[in-house]
Amino acid sequence: MALTGVDIFKLLPKTNCKKCGYPTCLAFAMKLAQRQASLDKCPDVSEEAKRLLGEASAPPVRPVTFGAGERAVKMGEETVLFRHEKRFVNPTVFAVEIKDTTTEGEALKLINDVLSSEIDRVGQKLKIDAFLLSNASGEPGALESLARLVFGKAPDVPVIISTADPVAGEAALAVYNGKRPVLFGANSGNIEKMAQAAGTFKAPLGVSAGNLDELIALTEKAKSLGIEDLIIDGGARKAGQIIEQNTIVRRASIKKNFKPLGYPSITFAQRDDVILEALVAGLGVSKYSSVVVVSSAEKWKNLALFTLRQNIYTDPQVPMQVEQKVYKIGEPQAGSPLLITTNFSLTYFIVSGEVENSKVPSWLAVMDCEGLSVLTAWAAGKFTAGKIAQFIKESGIESTVSHRELVIPGYVAILSGAIEEKLEGWKVTVGPREANALPAFLKTKAA
Ligand code: SF4
Repeated sequence: MALTGVDIFKLLPKTNCKKCGYPTCLAFAMKLAQRQASLDKCPDVSEEAKRLLGEASAPPVRPVTFGAGERAVKMGEETVLFRHEKRFVNPTVFAVEIKDTTTEGEALKLINDVLSSEIDRVGQKLKIDAFLLSNASGEPGALESLARLVFGKAPDVPVIISTADPVAGEAALAVYNGKRPVLFGANSGNIEKMAQAAGTFKAPLGVSAGNLDELIALTEKAKSLGIEDLIIDGGARKAGQIIEQNTIVRRASIKKNFKPLGYPSITFAQRDDVILEALVAGLGVSKYSSVVVVSSAEKWKNLALFTLRQNIYTDPQVPMQVEQKVYKIGEPQAGSPLLITTNFSLTYFIVSGEVENSKVPSWLAVMDCEGLSVLTAWAAGKFTAGKIAQFIKESGIESTVSHRELVIPGYVAILSGAIEEKLEGWKVTVGPREANALPAFLKTKAA
């Protein structure tokens, strides 16, 4: 039975030192009981308490990692049903299927599409994460050949080996030995041999059932065979079934702490109609799929899915931020203009984009305002004359630029006089209110 907050509290150091980010040990214990905090946030917890609390503090959806090195992907570890309660933890993994019946030319194109899928969006690198290599031919040799081809071209991209044949699975796993691939396709007829193959190669095992009752029996069986890291498929393929099944699985694991369903789930979104495929993949991202398998990696589809995933897996309670520093836009010289703005990601990317469009190399001082936009930061007392003056002095920009002119956003024109008072020797120029007026403003200044 799950421990209560009071049970957990008894095992904590009770010093109320706040190192965990909570004001008291009791507050931290309550969050642990609700699975909204992890025990490792308390640095002083004893080994004995760690052992006793291990199960109670484990996330209800087991974390499972596949792949190796920098491209390894982590799934699961979720603790809530809704992202307004707490940030969703590990973003949905996108895997592109390559069948072993695909021609070499088509396979090479898919590999290339995945390798070139990375885009930069509001400062984050987003890409297709993995391949799913499927044994559509039913021939063990064909799957192994495909694994060799893909490994040869993209050795660092994580893979899911999909087959119901343990012999074919072992041969393909051997190609990826040490790279922690997933072996997917265990069912009630092959679970012992598939578990054995997964165990041999230390691979997570994907179990595939026709319904949730079968799925529960399979995960319990896999666990009894010593396999802890599982990916689960309850057999849903239609859009409505996927939402229903994923929701039941997530609710059972989060609300009831029902361990047999407490694993990352996989959704197969492949469709002949690629627009329908994008929609089903989007449903998977929106409703709890840890892995979504697609059949192709068109750039338009990637953009839509990456954007959706990025939005769902950012913390709605914490604005996206960029680092506080003075950024170079272009190749600014000592006499180039110096502008200031806040560190809300969208503000930074819009302002820096417009400065870039102006083709006037500039210095852009980005001040930490806890990710708030200009007006909000000003209203919250985080983008004030005193703080701006302090930031400019501490940034070191005074020794880089040869002038003493700071361009502030038009929305905070009211601060210009106060900044000049606090930044002795500086002239404050009020820039445009809207970023899209920056190119004309900067060109005029440079003329
Ligand atoms: Fe208590 Fe540990 Fe949090 Fe300190 S870090 S307040 S000891 S739970």
